[in-house]
Amino acid sequence: MEQERICQTCKHFYQHYIKLARGTYNMCGSGHCVHPRLKFRYNNTKACQHYVLKEN
Ligand code: SF4
Repeated sequence: MEQERICQTCKHFYQHYIKLARGTYNMCGSGHCVHPRLKFRYNNTKACQHYVLKEN
C-alpha cells in the first residue's frame, strides 16, 4: 500500500511525544525535521522536495 507523502512518513521526521503522569507517552500531532536543517513540522505537513519514505 502506498504511503501518504507527508512529514510523518518521511525518514527525516522525528515524532514528538507527551509524557503522562502515569509514565506512559502519547503521540503529538507534531515533531521535527532534521534535513537539511532542524525545523518544526506537523505530522500531516505535505512532503517537501527532500522527502524520503521511512522504512518500517
Ligand atoms: S520537511 Fe521534507 S525532509 Fe523534512 S520531514 Fe517533511 S518531507 Fe521530510
